Amino acid sequence: MSDEAKPSPGDSPGLSNGLVSDSDRRVYQAARSLHPSAVKDLLSLGVCERCVFRLVSVEPFDFDLSSVSASTLRRWLDSGDDEEAAASSEPSCSRVCIVCLGVLQFVFSDARQTMVRSDCGSDYAARITDLVKQEGHEFDSFGLEVSVPSTVMENESSVLLYLKGKYNSEGWVQSEKIISVKDALKVLVLESLKASLGAKSDSSSFHIRLTYSKASDGAQGASETTHERKKRKTDEENGSTCMSENSFQKVYEPCSLSVHCNKMPIFFSGRYFKYSRNVSQTRWIIDDERMGEASVEELIGGNILPACLGDSYKFHAAGREDIDVRMLGSGRPFLIEVQNARKCPSQQSLTEIEEKINNSEKKLVGVKDLKFIGSQCWAMMREGEAEKQKQYAALVWMARPLEEKDIDSISSLKELKILQKTPVRVLHRRSPLERERTIHWMKVEKMKGSSNYFLLHLCTQAGTYIKEFVHGDLGRTSPSMGSILGCRAEIIQLDVTDVKMGDS
Ligand SMILES: [Zn+2]
Repeated sequence: MSDEAKPSPGDSPGLSNGLVSDSDRRVYQAARSLHPSAVKDLLSLGVCERCVFRLVSVEPFDFDLSSVSASTLRRWLDSGDDEEAAASSEPSCSRVCIVCLGVLQFVFSDARQTMVRSDCGSDYAARITDLVKQEGHEFDSFGLEVSVPSTVMENESSVLLYLKGKYNSEGWVQSEKIISVKDALKVLVLESLKASLGAKSDSSSFHIRLTYSKASDGAQGASETTHERKKRKTDEENGSTCMSENSFQKVYEPCSLSVHCNKMPIFFSGRYFKYSRNVSQTRWIIDDERMGEASVEELIGGNILPACLGDSYKFHAAGREDIDVRMLGSGRPFLIEVQNARKCPSQQSLTEIEEKINNSEKKLVGVKDLKFIGSQCWAMMREGEAEKQKQYAALVWMARPLEEKDIDSISSLKELKILQKTPVRVLHRRSPLERERTIHWMKVEKMKGSSNYFLLHLCTQAGTYIKEFVHGDLGRTSPSMGSILGCRAEIIQLDVTDVKMGDS
């Protein structure tokens, strides 16, 4: 649009003025309706065109503003009868807005400290889209979050205080109705962003966060001395109508923008088996030294994480067993929680991961029923909590030879109630308590040729400490296998052979 085309006040803009669209006309008319001297004051203070609309307008802040360039907005805002002032006014593009610090001017510093400027909202959205795509996420809907430096809010309140002081008697300064810089940016770019990302916008599990921060605190004029801050505070408290140079923090550089994408955790469920007596359930490192040769957590999580291109994972199991206890039977339920997954593996690739773990050379751990369960993890955890009974096979050593009457007396004990104080070996991580547990049944299997050993099959309430039940834990578990047999007894090897859920 040439200078001759600049419309005079009150003109109904038409094609001759370059106002080709309805939205242009609406913005033009809105610009002409703003309080002229307030507009002039704000522009001369260094407030940008879109912030002027935000702070002075009584109309709702509109998406239309995103398609009109800052320089055109400037022309429409400048009073039409003051050709000279309009011509001499500093081009807006050379100044960073003292309130939004460039955010609503669609200007920012990129990662290489290069200033990036967009003319309109759709161009800006395209740049944001490029940054989002670099993160490599798969998504079909997103939530948009914006954060801006506190200077934006501080300077805005200084400017509003100034406006109120000067114009409040006219009743149009309604600071409580003003849209924030963050929300204004969303109004300006969200529609274009949806189109360029090809995704819906909702409160989805995938978030795009635009973080604007002050380019550098060491930048010229960007830092504020304590004295200046105090002075500014005093001015604000006094409701000073004079907008002095010290009333706001001067910033001469646009904010730097970084784009972060975050996917809410996704969950996978399954059941695991542990075939080794030298594998811990979770990664276990003491003083830089690994306990055991691997962990269930790492063998499973370490295979799922790369398939999701996630940042990290957490392993949750329904209960636990000691490092030297195998987990057999139907396996123990577990969940893998993956943070910031960029993609979700198909059931096909989950089956391949399962096969890879199950067919590994060392056969330390096995997996079954591996599946994606979205974020409905809590049903699974409740299932874990409902775990009621566990079956074990224990190889037991006793201090005297096993007799026939021992077999009868052990097998005859049904629903045996025992009291267990928190075992000495776990006192460092569990609070000392006394719990009642039930041994539902026991069966003894003799070992050929070794009368001091026998195989004990037992079914207990979940949460029973089996090793302590056998050796008695210095009298802390009572009764115990040792007290029943009247001699020392120890577990040599232990396997979990089944985990039964509450309702199964
Ligand atoms: Zn601004």
